[in-house]
Amino acid sequence: MSVDVNSLQKTSLQVLKQSFGYDSFRDGQWEAISAVLDGQDTLVLMPTGGGKSLCYQVPAIVMEGLTLVVSPLISLMQDQVQQLSEQGVSAAYLNSSLTQDEEQAIYKRLGNHEIRLLYVAPEKLLRGYFLQHISEFPIKLIAIDEAHCVSHWGHDFRQDYRALGQLKKTFPSAPMIALTATADTATQADIIHQLNMQAPFVFKGGFDRPNIRYNLLSKYKGFDQVVSFVEQQGGNGGIVYCGSRAKVDDLTLKLQQAGVPCDGYHAGKSTEEREAVQNRFLRDQLQVVVATVAFGMGINKSNVRFVVHHDVPRSVESFYQETGRAGRDGMPAEALLLYDERDAARIKKWIADGATSDRFEIEMHKFDAMQAFAESQTCRRQVLLNYFSDYLGKACGNCDICQDPPKMFDATRQAQMVLSCIYRLQADTATQYVIDVLRGKSIRKILDNKHDELSTYAIGKSESDNYWHNIIQQLIHQGLAYIDMTRNGVLRLNESARAVLKGEKPIEMALPRLSVNSAKKNKYV
Ligand code: ADP
Ligand code: ZN
Repeated sequence: MSVDVNSLQKTSLQVLKQSFGYDSFRDGQWEAISAVLDGQDTLVLMPTGGGKSLCYQVPAIVMEGLTLVVSPLISLMQDQVQQLSEQGVSAAYLNSSLTQDEEQAIYKRLGNHEIRLLYVAPEKLLRGYFLQHISEFPIKLIAIDEAHCVSHWGHDFRQDYRALGQLKKTFPSAPMIALTATADTATQADIIHQLNMQAPFVFKGGFDRPNIRYNLLSKYKGFDQVVSFVEQQGGNGGIVYCGSRAKVDDLTLKLQQAGVPCDGYHAGKSTEEREAVQNRFLRDQLQVVVATVAFGMGINKSNVRFVVHHDVPRSVESFYQETGRAGRDGMPAEALLLYDERDAARIKKWIADGATSDRFEIEMHKFDAMQAFAESQTCRRQVLLNYFSDYLGKACGNCDICQDPPKMFDATRQAQMVLSCIYRLQADTATQYVIDVLRGKSIRKILDNKHDELSTYAIGKSESDNYWHNIIQQLIHQGLAYIDMTRNGVLRLNESARAVLKGEKPIEMALPRLSVNSAKKNKYV
């Protein structure tokens, strides 16, 4: 190599200091920057908050000419362009929010070689005027942010990203740097393939977020569980993710009634409403935002103290990204997942019903991994990092399993109580109804059906609804019962239940954990 690496590093460090005010590179940044400056295609896999932006911003300033940045999010582009401009770096963006005049003004600046970084939305990049003139621009570097969007294997595939494969053909001599926080091996290989990257240098950062403590509760009356969890957080701010807009609206109301300053965010609201919610949250005027997955990809708020999933996400990547919005300042943060076997059964049915054949397998595979994470009884961080092929040698000490290990007990009697109740109820076996009979509730339907005359009526009176719900979940995990989605999600017995009912097979279970153990402290300080 003709250029002296030491002098490049010196120049890069000067840029880091002058334009960004930082003294040293973080793990992986210099490795990626030096590869790019050396003209090599580069794939950067770093967790959210790891500092991916500098990996292309620094080379853009060090190199002569124009750097093209493809980014899917208008708000993120605007933020970055504004920040760069304030730091004296000439940057601009092209996306659908601009008027024709504004757009023309940018082309004029491009023509005058006045712009160092041009952010472009993918749909803009490969259409119309831009495409006609693209080869006139002295493009020296191409950066693809959120690169997993190019892959079907990623959790957020975008059609417009597919066409980005052309870029490498149009500008064969400009290095390409692709960046993402999603790193399972299949997605990684597909990004390289789809973007036509040539023998790229791959940097893979550590994915662990040690300050986030992972908690999981079996979901039972999820709204109440969310309210009590939020009340435990002492006014700290956080995000609660729900699987549908209707749930966002309902839970927002419930939290507001409990006196929590909060608002909802989903794609059914107008752009103005959404921006207002986001801004109030950024300024700490809202403690909680209840949201669908529409909220967050561009959220740059470092002091989010907790993220709750009221509904199980569709993939481990989504879970990781969404929980990763907590604790970006490095201070202790909490993640809580509420998990219900019925949600999982429902999601599998949706995937099976809705998907075309190739999508079907990918989505099912991803959801299976998510379900395995939720149902595993070992250190949550180990399971999570393992998914990203980032191995953690020992249990973390900062998740609910590590801090409060499942206590096994002989649950043969409890299992028999539930299973015989399901057996006797025959067709009428939705989970809650089974619980109502076990606990001896005198509700109308039970009395009308004369189910108060069953021998299993009221035999489980001494434990709570939540307790029995948890026991039933474990019976499902152990394959003794299942949820029949072809019949409105009723509970049914599996053949293996017979031996338990006959007293031929003992059953061990974990003692139900009914709330987050608030006595235990987040170990990360
Ligand atoms: P990502 O895109 O990986 O989520 P960002 O590029 O937004 O992360 O960076 C996250 C935060 O870390 C930003 O506030 C950024 O200014 C800061 N940061 C990045 N690199 C450094 C560094 N070398 N030293 C100090 N802070 C940094
Ligand atoms: Zn752990």
